[in-house]
This record gives sequence, C-alpha cells and structure tokens, in this order.
Amino acid sequence: MPRRTSTAQRPASAPNRAKPAAPRKAKPAPTAEVPAERPGPPAPAAKPVWFSKGLQFTCTQCGNCCTGEPGFIFLDDAEADAIAERLGMDPVAFRRRYTATVHHEHGATLSLREQGDGACVFWRAGVGCTIYEQRPTQCRTWPFWRRVVASKAAWRREAAQCPGMDRGALHSAETIQATASRDGLPR
Ligand code: SF4
Ligand code: SF4
Repeated sequence: MPRRTSTAQRPASAPNRAKPAAPRKAKPAPTAEVPAERPGPPAPAAKPVWFSKGLQFTCTQCGNCCTGEPGFIFLDDAEADAIAERLGMDPVAFRRRYTATVHHEHGATLSLREQGDGACVFWRAGVGCTIYEQRPTQCRTWPFWRRVVASKAAWRREAAQCPGMDRGALHSAETIQATASRDGLPR
C-alpha cells in the first residue's frame, strides 16, 4: 500500500533527481618497471531492470496514502527541524507533539504521528497535506521506493491501491533508480 511504510507513503510526484557524475580518475601509464595489470575476465553484463522503458505515475491527489490503515511516515532530523520551523515551533516541542520513535531492524527513526482514524497528523480533509512543501522524503519519492520497484509483482501490488500508478507522466529508468536509491526509508 502506498505512502506509509509497511503500510505508508504519501502523495508525491517523483522528483527529477540526477546523480552527480563521478569524477574521472586518470590511470598512470604503465612503465617498464611497473608492468601493466593483466586484464581479468570481462565483468558479466548488468541485467536490465524490469522497468527499463520507464514507469508511469501522476498523483491523482486521492489521499488514499495519507489516510486509512496505520503506517509509518519516517523523517530524519533535518526534515523534523524543517517542519518545526514552518510551524514556528521549537524543534523539541515539535518532536514531542507530532512524532514518535519507531524501532526497526535498522535502528530507530522518527515517524509522524497519526490521527485517531489512521490519517497522517498533517492531513486535513478538503485541504490535503498541510505541510506539503516540507513533507518528508518518503512522501516525495513515492511510488519509486526501492522495495516497490524491486519487482513487477511488488509494483502491481501497490498499484492496486494507488490510482496514480501506471498512468500519467512517464518517468525514466534512470530517474526511478536515482529516486529509489534515496527514497527516505530507513536502511
Ligand atoms: S494517487 Fe497514489 S500517491 Fe496520489 S494520493 Fe492517491 S494513493 Fe497517494
Ligand atoms: S506529511 Fe503530508 S504527504 Fe506525507 S503522509 Fe502526511 S499528509 Fe500525506
């Protein structure tokens, strides 16, 4: 299911993030004293990803992923500080009021609290996300989460609950991979 981890995620349009190009390192030319390394066997060709032609996604703003079943909306300290600043709150008071610490296999991470009906604490009916500009990374990167794009089956499972998937804008495999590598989920 989208947005909240487990369980959660949020409406999001996948950002068009590009990885910075790695600097090239020049190899010293081999000399008589330093024999050139023997070439090893050729590396096996990388298997193309199942979404090599890209995937479609445009959020319909239906709100399914900000509401419904309980889930997790993870955020790091910088994101918590940014939301606190937007709300004009002391960062400690913000954490106490709007977040809880979730312990998981990778450690412990802050997660936004939820309302009694399971909706994210920052969701308002008829308004939507009230911290949209400062929403956590996992809300921005949906549905290009690493676990969602890991297989076609996983993608289809989530698409059954997110009407924005498999429709609208086409996102390239490169964009999807870059987004999934920084999906904002604990690892
Ligand atoms: S279309 Fe998907 S991402 Fe957008 S609000 Fe609905 S469930 Fe969430
Ligand atoms: S922070 Fe905003 S986008 Fe993310 S789950 Fe909450 S209401 Fe939805």
